[in-house]
Amino acid sequence: STFAPVDLATILDDTIQLLETHLRGTAIEIKKDYGGALPPVWGQASKLQQVFMNLMLNARDAMPHGGILTITATVQGNAVTIAVSDTGIGIPPEVIHRIYDPFFTTKEVGHGTGLGLAVSYGIVQEHGGHVFVESTPGQGTTFRVKLPVAATQT
Ligand code: ADP
Ligand code: MG
Repeated sequence: STFAPVDLATILDDTIQLLETHLRGTAIEIKKDYGGALPPVWGQASKLQQVFMNLMLNARDAMPHGGILTITATVQGNAVTIAVSDTGIGIPPEVIHRIYDPFFTTKEVGHGTGLGLAVSYGIVQEHGGHVFVESTPGQGTTFRVKLPVAATQT
């Protein structure tokens, strides 16, 4: 478990490539908007890939009839924010406070462990980052992962 400067665009590209096998037979369109130079973050590439995969698989599950999965990156000050948005079912306000709880799932038995977000939240915390969620039932959900950029040497 070694931390090193990692390029989020590469991690996102790798994650999306892996995701594509999980999107076969769905009507989900992927939109990527993270071109250009992103500053490196100090992190563990495989762990961050796990976070983005969890978010993207949740987005897929939220769009059983298809939709748009959008992945964007923005830089503000010393942080990079990756947003994973779907046009899916959304999260009811009465359960949104439980989504990071281990074993909380609304999926059928055998379809969800309820661990994806709990694990992801922990990984982002280990990176000194934060996870934010915004959701509108019937319209979609956006998860944002905000990570500090690797300290630059001057
Ligand atoms: P699992 O996917 O195994 O159910 P997670 O921890 O990944 O477990 O997610 C917990 C719950 O949060 C899901 O069961 C679902 O109710 C809700 N959730 C997470 N992401 C989304 C999303 N993009 N759209 C709608 N609901 C979501
Ligand atoms: Mg999940």
